[in-house]
Amino acid sequence: MKVPLIDLRAQYREIGSEIDEAIKGVLESGQFVLGANTVALEEEVSAYLGVQYGVGVASGTDGLQLALRAFDVGPGDEVIVPSYTFFATVEAVIQVGAIPVFVDVDPQTFCLNVGDVEDLITSNTKAVIPVHLYGRTGDMASLLELARNHRFKVIEDNAQAFGSEYQEQKTASLGDVGCLSFFPSKNLGCYGDGGMVVTDDKEVADRVKLLRTHGWRKKYFPETVGYNSRLDELQAAVLRVKLEYIDKWNNDRRQLAGRYSTLLQGLDIQLPQDDPEVKHVYHLYVIQIKDRDRIQRSLKAAGVASAVYYPQPLHLAEPCHSLGFRRGDFPVAERASDETLAIPLYPGMSDEQINLVVTALKGAVEATKIS
Ligand SMILES: *Cc1c(COP(=O)(O)O)cnc(C)c1O
Repeated sequence: MKVPLIDLRAQYREIGSEIDEAIKGVLESGQFVLGANTVALEEEVSAYLGVQYGVGVASGTDGLQLALRAFDVGPGDEVIVPSYTFFATVEAVIQVGAIPVFVDVDPQTFCLNVGDVEDLITSNTKAVIPVHLYGRTGDMASLLELARNHRFKVIEDNAQAFGSEYQEQKTASLGDVGCLSFFPSKNLGCYGDGGMVVTDDKEVADRVKLLRTHGWRKKYFPETVGYNSRLDELQAAVLRVKLEYIDKWNNDRRQLAGRYSTLLQGLDIQLPQDDPEVKHVYHLYVIQIKDRDRIQRSLKAAGVASAVYYPQPLHLAEPCHSLGFRRGDFPVAERASDETLAIPLYPGMSDEQINLVVTALKGAVEATKIS
């Protein structure tokens, strides 16, 4: 491929010596789980996001699950989730024994459609999980107002939006709790799995801390059944280095996205829209286009990588069959699954590469028109 979807090696070339130093420091310290780096990272990330507490966990998926458990969400409870997101959002709800209640997404932002949420609220609704998909939020003001009126928790799935803002406040700090993923390809990624739960609520932070280490505060004296879900020191040390660069990298992403949006104007493609209330950090640059699969094949032939996030809306996923949904129930999510395509975007991408993608995409669109 002339242009890969992302290139994590480019990032390592930029900061490799600092990373090597940090890793060496951990190896020499002899402390590998819940040591000084994790504590420092929890403080640094909380300060960056403008929240009181951060608790490092083993992954973003675990973060969601522990956050749900921290609010005592369990069997019989309902949690409203978008039908178009990464499976982990829904998986966490099912893992704690609660029922995922799907809502369709907005056709422009692909975030959950807040206008549809109110009709789904019942006396069993414990939480709503807005997913800041592809690096931006939807209408959080209306969702937070609904939450106040109906007394449910807002658990932000911020796995794709580290550094993003809504009305000049960092995402993950808007609701009751925010869940971060440090999976390598995320905007702030480590070199393995990692995640964090952030909140202003001390009780929630304490509860997640309890759950991440076998449900005990005092070693070998569990108070509840927990998990083994800690962020390790190697990942925390790597993340502390990368946190220093996140604003620069997010700005790079925003600039590259701006170039795409200028150069792709006028084609019969739905492009991501900027919104004055939202700072989009372009985890992915996702377009919506008819005849998507053919376009993808012709990009590939031109040496340009692309990817489909996500080819199946979750109300149609096998583990959700028992909920009884059918094709047609969430038309926007279904159409997004059929027509969206992520094109290459990563910090360090050159103008030449952007131009290659644009030329290939224009060629692909022309070709589908002719045939
Ligand atoms: C990546 C991701 C997760 C899960 O994070 P992991 O660290 O991979 O477990 C959850 N939700 C969304 C929207 C994601 O993109």
